[in-house]
Amino acid sequence: MATALIQQILPEEYGALTPEEADRRIASARERLGDCVVILGHHYQRDEIIKFADYTGDSYKLCLHAASHPEADFIVFCGVHFMAESAVILGAAHQRVILPNLSAGCSMADMATRTQVEDLWEELSALTDERIIPVTYMNSSAAIKSFCGEHGGAVCTSSNCEAIFRWALEEGDKIAFFPDEHLGRNTALHMGFRDEDMALWDPTIPPEMNDREGLRRAKIVLWKGFCSVHARFSVEQIQRARRDFPGIRVIVHPECRREVVEAADGFGSTEYISRVIRESEPGSQWAVGTEINLVSRLAKELPDRLIFCLDPIVCPCSTMYRIEPRYLCWALENLAEGRVVNEITVPERDVRYAKAALDRMMEITAAARV
Ligand code: SF4
Repeated sequence: MATALIQQILPEEYGALTPEEADRRIASARERLGDCVVILGHHYQRDEIIKFADYTGDSYKLCLHAASHPEADFIVFCGVHFMAESAVILGAAHQRVILPNLSAGCSMADMATRTQVEDLWEELSALTDERIIPVTYMNSSAAIKSFCGEHGGAVCTSSNCEAIFRWALEEGDKIAFFPDEHLGRNTALHMGFRDEDMALWDPTIPPEMNDREGLRRAKIVLWKGFCSVHARFSVEQIQRARRDFPGIRVIVHPECRREVVEAADGFGSTEYISRVIRESEPGSQWAVGTEINLVSRLAKELPDRLIFCLDPIVCPCSTMYRIEPRYLCWALENLAEGRVVNEITVPERDVRYAKAALDRMMEITAAARV
């Protein structure tokens, strides 16, 4: 298929589509494209997009699906920017990755730039002779993953963070973890570390204003970044759920703040939350601290259980929400005509090093059987 690269704002023709027209045209373009396209839908996507996804899952699982379809020349990633970058890194060289709306970013991933990470690295290297292992959450840019690969570190997901931390502390003396403070702290506490084993780096203030003694002493240096969706959950919401539904079980994502995780009955990745609730007994009650689209889908799928989101004021991931049917229609129809719109690319050097960090994660995870 001949292709030309075009990146532009949503053309008027698509802006004016009704939901029904968009649906019909997406289905038709999808059919014309056949096996040369795989559509991936993140758990947090709206239903109108998920129904067109060949695969749904968390960001890592989706990248593996993309890589397992070498016959597909195009991966249409209905997620956010860092996820599409990861598909570029893990996909085959000939596969091209499309993010239907380029403005679908991730506020947490944007909280750590490569330059900021290099500033921390310089500061830590000046403070200590210890071997520092950089670890980045999947929810980070390709440039940060590349930094970790280049400096002997690894990527982690919310499912394998503990195994990666354990590996990092066998390899070195100290972890520098980006960009989610809460995932890092919740994981470290669960592993038995204490508050004094951790220090927080705030990239938004001058380096000298950070706690240098704490940074020197810490086993785990956390980055002051957070997910705007998961940071909304509170202990008060958990107390209210327990008061209104005695016996209810509360399960939350580790991107939630520490006190929320401590007040819950359990915590884990979106895959973990989905599995635990699916395997629960009919009649059970669940208050869930993660993105509303996933929670609503579980509630719909399991009508014999009470499942609701802890936050009464609906909290979708607003950037993920920017992938909507008109954008998907635009991307697919152009592909069917041999044009690529909104392609995500990653510099070759970042692909190489980021892949090294991702491969390291996979090796550690396989050895730890996480
Ligand atoms: S839910 Fe949070 S971490 Fe996930 S994509 Fe949205 S802003 Fe980023």
